[in-house]
Amino acid sequence: MKICVLSRGPTLYSTSRIAHAGRRKQHDVRIVDPYNALIGSLEFGLALAHPIVELASFDVVIPRVGASAMPFGLPVVDQFELLGIPVLNGSSAFELSRNKIMAGQVLTAAGLPVPRTLALRNPEHIDSAIELLGGPPIVVKLHPGTQGVGVAICETVRSIRSTVEAFWSLNREVLLQEFVAEASGTDVRMFVVDGKLIGAMRRTAPSAEFRSNLHRGGTAEAVEVDDVMRDVAVRAADAMDLLVAGVDILESSRGPLIMEVNPSPGLQGIEEATRVDVAAHIVACAERLAL
Ligand code: ADP
Ligand code: MG
Repeated sequence: MKICVLSRGPTLYSTSRIAHAGRRKQHDVRIVDPYNALIGSLEFGLALAHPIVELASFDVVIPRVGASAMPFGLPVVDQFELLGIPVLNGSSAFELSRNKIMAGQVLTAAGLPVPRTLALRNPEHIDSAIELLGGPPIVVKLHPGTQGVGVAICETVRSIRSTVEAFWSLNREVLLQEFVAEASGTDVRMFVVDGKLIGAMRRTAPSAEFRSNLHRGGTAEAVEVDDVMRDVAVRAADAMDLLVAGVDILESSRGPLIMEVNPSPGLQGIEEATRVDVAAHIVACAERLAL
């Protein structure tokens, strides 16, 4: 089978682990930088070219597209899909899950639990939004944002208003979210591949920090999750149409709340914490899809 791992960084942990797992199964694996693809439309139809690799000959594509590479990376993923080549995950699923506002809408509509969250654009609505969310402290999130950057905790109405207005002045969208204090600087990342939970870890923020992102210095340990958590993770990945998903949960006093569903979750943290061969699960899913 010919597998394309679409990634900007051939030496990145996740990319090289997936490539190794594929080669171990005797597949012909190529790591392709999406920025080396030439995509578009020509009179004969869709164009998908690369200086050395015949892109249309792949049996399956595993996109590893970070947030910053999305504007060009996703049309590349889409081009493969339009040519009938299976991808995990698809470009519209990527887009949906990276949009925190729309992702929350879809999850809620699917009956899944998320933190109380509001998006707004009118400064006159700030006070009523804060009230609807139960008052300060409130988490203000820049949208889009990733790796914890642009996630601020605001303790007073004054600081919420000034933070929101600062983001708006930069022409960025924000959302306001209840602060789940009980989670106390931890969250649970559940890794779902092909509709199954394959591993989970608890991430803990460094002291004096409420954001538990590993990129912000958080630490990770394996965790056993109960059936409720497992069910939430699997249903969240399904609602977002993701075959590979990192489902992030805040454990609140009213049960698990889905904070985020990541369409290109890193492998290093979860593999080191759980010793699960996540890369092999991803390759197995690619094999199933390509058949
Ligand atoms: P990013 O997409 O940048 O990772 P997240 O929404 O995942 O942003 O938030 C980053 C971190 O901040 C989370 O992993 C969590 O530890 C913390 N956090 C985010 N939202 C809340 C909240 N509503 N209550 C408590 N902690 C939160
Ligand atoms: Mg996050």
